[in-house]
Amino acid sequence: MNTDMIIVFFGELGTKGKNIMDFIRLLGKNIKIALKDFPTLSYDIKKDHIYILLNQEDYASVAEKLKKVPGIGSFALAKAVDKDLEAISVCANKMYQESGKVTFKVACRRADKTFELHSDDVARKVGAYILKNNDGHAKVNVHEPDLLIQVYIRLECAYVYAKKDRGLGGYPLGIAGKSLCLLSGGIDSPVAAFEMMKRGVKLECIHFAAPPYTSSAVIDKIHDLLHVLNDYQPDIKLYIVPFTQLERKIYEVAGPSYCVTIMRRMMLRISESIAYSHNDLVLSGGESIGQVASQTLYSMRVIEECATLPFIRPLATADKIDIIEKAKQIGTYDISIRPYEDCCTIFTLKDPVTHPNIDKVREIEEAFDWKSMVRDCVKNVEVEHISKLEEEEF
Ligand code: ATP
Ligand code: MG
Repeated sequence: MNTDMIIVFFGELGTKGKNIMDFIRLLGKNIKIALKDFPTLSYDIKKDHIYILLNQEDYASVAEKLKKVPGIGSFALAKAVDKDLEAISVCANKMYQESGKVTFKVACRRADKTFELHSDDVARKVGAYILKNNDGHAKVNVHEPDLLIQVYIRLECAYVYAKKDRGLGGYPLGIAGKSLCLLSGGIDSPVAAFEMMKRGVKLECIHFAAPPYTSSAVIDKIHDLLHVLNDYQPDIKLYIVPFTQLERKIYEVAGPSYCVTIMRRMMLRISESIAYSHNDLVLSGGESIGQVASQTLYSMRVIEECATLPFIRPLATADKIDIIEKAKQIGTYDISIRPYEDCCTIFTLKDPVTHPNIDKVREIEEAFDWKSMVRDCVKNVEVEHISKLEEEEF
């Protein structure tokens, strides 16, 4: 036996006690969906790890996909060999030689406690084999080895691996329920969406469009952003709200300084209504404290006053420079910086208020029939699926 496989390690999943099998099964299902372009892979979903038999598929291509699956702590290319000290030693030595490294350490774990040797003995004997078979070139360094060779002994075979790739961490998508994420065409909200997904939250997205002030290029942008996010969540439901009439009315009644405050409140009301009817537990978005007038704590408090659902802002404390870095990493940045008009920026707003007054807000809202306009927005919302799955796989 000498089989190439990938061992998937769970990371934070390990702390989930009784529900752990639900987590692992869901992660297994998500991994299979992410790797659906590799039909020859086969899977063994176990309580300790998920094992993927490569069956001649290219490790690097599979690894690229695995790096985007929430809930994977790390993963390693491993050899499955017979549970026999000689076979393990030969395999470990080959891995050492192929690495080109000098110093090494061997570590061993046993799930099979009936194995003839204790973990420490296995590590020592495999290490001795490597020292003996490399003409004095190999050196042990137990504290900072160039190469850590790991041996894992299970009932059916032994696994040997030397390099772990980092996964996304977080939790399997879908384990933490569903959130409705407010997605603009900017840099921040796609990053916020990613952060939610990484934490296991399945997202639906809502976008407020104000044609003809906002062009169809904005919707193309939203589609392109969601296609990138499909790597993390393969199917995303998108609600597009026709916001033009309400927005025009808000500008008329609120004037430039309170326009954004009122507009945000209306966005929240519409989002909430959709969230309640589609079982989204919370709202989320890309706001960051102090970034613009509507994102001061004073504004956030007045804006959220009209809502009942929690609003999660994963980027609340993040600096823009770090958000940009993250956007580049996840692949949304280049799309986000394409020029676009957001429905919030089309009217030139002079001095948007940073300390809005709630009484003034109520006064403005009492001056027009926003309830029926909000209802119309909800009624006329367009729904799309942005997906890499076939329809029957939703
Ligand atoms: P982003 O870069 O994501 O656009 P921003 O820094 O431009 O954020 P704002 O335009 O003030 O900030 O928007 C703050 C948040 O409000 C966005 O991150 C998003 O969650 C939501 N938002 C803004 N405009 C829209 C829109 N047209 N449709 C849906 N959500 C929006
Ligand atoms: Mg924006």
